Amino acid sequence: MTRMYDSNPPPTAPMRPRASRERLVAIVSEDCTGCQTCVDICLVDCIEPTPTAAKSQPPAPVHIREDECIGCFLCAKVCEELEAKAIHLVPVERLGSDRGTGRCTAEPSSATPLS
Ligand code: SF4
Ligand code: SF4
Repeated sequence: MTRMYDSNPPPTAPMRPRASRERLVAIVSEDCTGCQTCVDICLVDCIEPTPTAAKSQPPAPVHIREDECIGCFLCAKVCEELEAKAIHLVPVERLGSDRGTGRCTAEPSSATPLS
């Protein structure tokens, strides 16, 4: 049996450039209680607890290695469920000189809070 496309290849859709999406990364605000719940949630293990100088001190905010973050939102959801809402997703381009610090000092209007 001869198929319709044996002699003529099927038409293909024209290649379209993929819409470029901003890469979002997680950053931690000062609202972090240091509970460390998000540390084990991260799929790529890029959230680190920050050691405190003394046991008598309150837990320090966690640190996110944003270069490894895949922007999956999981940590932000967990943090939101804990009512801390300390994790925000921002476009990596907005980090500027803050890259590597786990913080973002960009103008609030240019950052993208999760909620
Ligand atoms: S879950 Fe939220 S409050 Fe707890 S350590 Fe993570 S960022 Fe901080
Ligand atoms: S957004 Fe995902 S990959 Fe990034 S720190 Fe949170 S859990 Fe980890």
